[in-house]
Amino acid sequence: MKEIRTRIAPSPTGMMHLGTARTAIYCWAVARHLGGKFLLRIEDTDQKRSTQEATQVILDSMKWLNLDYDEGPIYQMDRLDRYREVVEQMLADGRAYKCYATPEELDEMREAQRKAGLKPRYDGRWRPENCQGKPIPEGVNPVIRFRNPDDGDVTWHDAVYGTITISNRELDDLIIMRDGIPTYNFAVVVDDWDMKVSHVIRGADHINNTPRQINLYKALGAEVPVFAHLPLINGPDGQKLSKRHGSVSVMEYEAQGFLPEAVFNYLARLGWGHGNMEKFSREELAEVFELGDCSRAAARLDFKKFEWLNAQYMKEADDARLASLVRARIEKRGGVVEGGPDLVGVCGLLKTRSATLETLADQALFFYKPLERDPETVKTALEGENLAAIKAFAAAIEPLEDFTAPKIYEAIKSVMQAQNIKMGPVATPLRVLVCNADRTPQIDKTLELFGKKVVLERIASGLEMAA
Ligand code: GLU
Repeated sequence: MKEIRTRIAPSPTGMMHLGTARTAIYCWAVARHLGGKFLLRIEDTDQKRSTQEATQVILDSMKWLNLDYDEGPIYQMDRLDRYREVVEQMLADGRAYKCYATPEELDEMREAQRKAGLKPRYDGRWRPENCQGKPIPEGVNPVIRFRNPDDGDVTWHDAVYGTITISNRELDDLIIMRDGIPTYNFAVVVDDWDMKVSHVIRGADHINNTPRQINLYKALGAEVPVFAHLPLINGPDGQKLSKRHGSVSVMEYEAQGFLPEAVFNYLARLGWGHGNMEKFSREELAEVFELGDCSRAAARLDFKKFEWLNAQYMKEADDARLASLVRARIEKRGGVVEGGPDLVGVCGLLKTRSATLETLADQALFFYKPLERDPETVKTALEGENLAAIKAFAAAIEPLEDFTAPKIYEAIKSVMQAQNIKMGPVATPLRVLVCNADRTPQIDKTLELFGKKVVLERIASGLEMAA
């Protein structure tokens, strides 16, 4: 059987889009499902727009999403000799030719076509048979054009869209090389051919390029791969996804505190479905993924669902991992983690109530921010029965050897019983004096994390403030 080989081939001209990430996930899943290979190719031939930073973003995004590739990254700019070699062969046997038309001349041509009510297209003026005896203009650096077939149709059976047929009359003689640099349509075909790519999976915005590429494959005597085009991802309002909708780049989600496995899951599910699978791991996806289960309709982002899914992954994430992911976020908010309550424990306490790492950082901050209590608030918190309650609580925990949530809870209960009061008069001064927060998670667990020494110190200094 033929080896299954897929590739993701992003152009390093900006961020890594959600759409590109989803395509990469599907390419990866096809390869893993069928025991094939997954390649990463950086299409950097657009020298004006390609940047090193954008390449780094692609590599970072792949890594962050845990999309392991078997070959690459392969850079097209490292393969110029190969494209030039193929062009030379095509020129030699007439599959390609040099075109000396200047941009101005082509503008004029198109203008005339438009005036005549025709669709603008290259008219083949430099095809060898059309320029017999025509002098080669001086000072014009020719482009290389592919001699597209004049008649007949191009048909392919798209793994997502079904059979698509385009007439060759719709296609003109494509430029394949300019100034020694291949154009996208040419480089992509030579690469996919050389790299034995069996499935070309990419965004539906490339459907128009596919018939041109198929003609190139045929001219090169190469086997035509399977094509699968994926519908675009739209914003929640059904409009084309743009900055206006919030985040369109993968790493932006990292910044917003999403977990990579949630982003992976959400993107995979967006435009593909299998039974009632909603929450699944990479391995589970690889096990069942088929291109035929991809939707033909454009997907719509649903940020609520996205966040809900992330919250599910937060709940089950390992506490130590969350701690390492959230630490810098707390420090950025002015928290001092070093020497403070155990961050792993804090994450364990808060993860079920935090939809993202950002909300986790917000909620964890009171454990680590410098103690700046407002004297008035402290005074108010110690009014009435609260004062006696907090003193009794301090006395009750003083002798405790293991300062754990159940013991702390017992201490609170004993104060409530002895003074015949509700929970409020004990908990309120604890929140204000110890936690420096309006609201806290369960108070016994929270205090356990602060530790007995800090709790007693803060109660004592709070009492002094109010004295
Ligand atoms: N470099 C192209 C892009 O980023 C890749 C298209 C393809 O997969 O053929 O859109």
